[in-house]
Amino acid sequence: LNLKAKLGLNVFKEDKERHINIKPGMEKDPRLKRAVLVCPAGLYSLNDKGEVEFTIDGCLECGTCRIACGVEVLDWKYPHGGAGVQFRFG
Ligand code: SF4
Repeated sequence: LNLKAKLGLNVFKEDKERHINIKPGMEKDPRLKRAVLVCPAGLYSLNDKGEVEFTIDGCLECGTCRIACGVEVLDWKYPHGGAGVQFRFG
């Protein structure tokens, strides 16, 4: 299996609230663009206006975006118990 196929085996249960949020006023902060490059699940992308878009579905809870962008930019916490990713391969 390639990486994309392995990630597709995981199950993601949506939490009652998003566990990662861009802090208010930080949507255009250049540090946020680092997440586009480092997120292993590819959940951050640039739109045609050069703005970062983000979806939580499929988050691996690895914390890479938190380290790359910083806690000034992202409000990051683990999902509540029973929610989030369930790894099915490795
Ligand atoms: Fe991507 Fe990891 Fe951040 Fe989730 S925690 S959004 S998988 S970098």
